[in-house]
Amino acid sequence: MAIAELIDKKRRGGRLTRPELEELIHGHLRGDIPDYQIAAWLMAVCWRGMEPDELADLTMIMSESGRQLDLSPVGRTVVDKHSTGGVGDKTSLVAVPLVAACGVPVGKMSGRGLGFSGGTLDKLEALDGFRVDLSADQFLEQLRGVGAVIAGQSPDLAPADGKLYALRDVTATVASIPLIASSVMSKKLAGGAPVIVLDVKCGRGAFMPTEADACDLAETMIQIGRSANRSVTAFVTDMDQPLGTMVGNALEVQEATRALSGADADDRLADLAIEIAAEMLVLAAATPDRSSARERVLAALRDGSAFRKLVELVVAQGGDPTPLDRPDLLDTASIKQPVTAGRSGYVAALDALCVARAANRLGAGRERKGDPIDHAVGVQILTPVGSAVTAGETVAIIHANNSERLAASQPLVEAAFTVADEPPQPRPVIHHRMSTQET
Ligand code: URA
Repeated sequence: MAIAELIDKKRRGGRLTRPELEELIHGHLRGDIPDYQIAAWLMAVCWRGMEPDELADLTMIMSESGRQLDLSPVGRTVVDKHSTGGVGDKTSLVAVPLVAACGVPVGKMSGRGLGFSGGTLDKLEALDGFRVDLSADQFLEQLRGVGAVIAGQSPDLAPADGKLYALRDVTATVASIPLIASSVMSKKLAGGAPVIVLDVKCGRGAFMPTEADACDLAETMIQIGRSANRSVTAFVTDMDQPLGTMVGNALEVQEATRALSGADADDRLADLAIEIAAEMLVLAAATPDRSSARERVLAALRDGSAFRKLVELVVAQGGDPTPLDRPDLLDTASIKQPVTAGRSGYVAALDALCVARAANRLGAGRERKGDPIDHAVGVQILTPVGSAVTAGETVAIIHANNSERLAASQPLVEAAFTVADEPPQPRPVIHHRMSTQET
């Protein structure tokens, strides 16, 4: 069938067969099908969705577009973790070293910023020299040596997702359950880990605005994992407000490093990272139960071994680890613009989407495929949700490198804060846990 006919079939709500999907995905990878046709198909999927077996076919085709890692030479159960994308979400930078420091190897294939959300790879590249494009052999070698690796898709590993991901980022085709599920799970299956913990974000700063949609996405990914014989847990977690107090690449590395080095960590960030790390240990059967898993994770935080594991990972991937001890050496923005409260009261809400858009206008994310990003810029929140504020008090600092970009982002940061007379009810960071396992 001609490619336009396949696009039209999906536009009309039809189900593409496995050979038809192979034609699209393989043709795009070879460079025979242009981005504009794939973008049209992606948009049709956003509107029409996919049948479960069509989604299973797409996920397998994407996962098999490169090498499927055989992790048996590692000799231990390898675990993986993935977030569906949020604002200020640096959980992986904390959870991965925590788990690896507990002796459980973590092999993680991550993504770049997508749409308004940030990406772990972009954050790590705030460290000079950090390489994310590892070959399959390098991935395996580091997993055996260091016990922790965070890499991106490569020509070797899930390359089909790499191409689709970059295209979705700039064509408003991210927020779709089948496209997110196939993107995440194709990488997880190719990465080979038998244990996968997913963080499915929901709320204003997530691609799934409601809990019902997020649970649907979580269930869809669990089902894909179950069919591939993987142990999968998905946490559905809050993303109405940014996670932690920093949004922007270098700023988030700084916050994650502080959390790992035992300095005051934002409670929600610490709670989520610890719970995810503990779940990874439980599913890997590294501890007898959840409470001993939490104890082990907390010990790795307190004794500095998790921080040292992050340093090891950074060095292994060619990065300069010095700023992990000396955050003042990270790229900093030339302008630090305070944003003040318009009235006294309590911060009742902090709109994650407004903060994300502000950070992107500053240059923390991409407008077009392949755009460079500015690692230094972002938004620092001084008064998280629940804080008491007085009129005129500084509630956030915008880190900018350009006054036009600053002017475009400032109204968004101002609009992100809702100040009310009463403090809001505290909201848990974790809403639900769903799993293939009864633990
Ligand atoms: N993370 C991914 O890897 N893919 C998505 O589509 C969303 C988040």
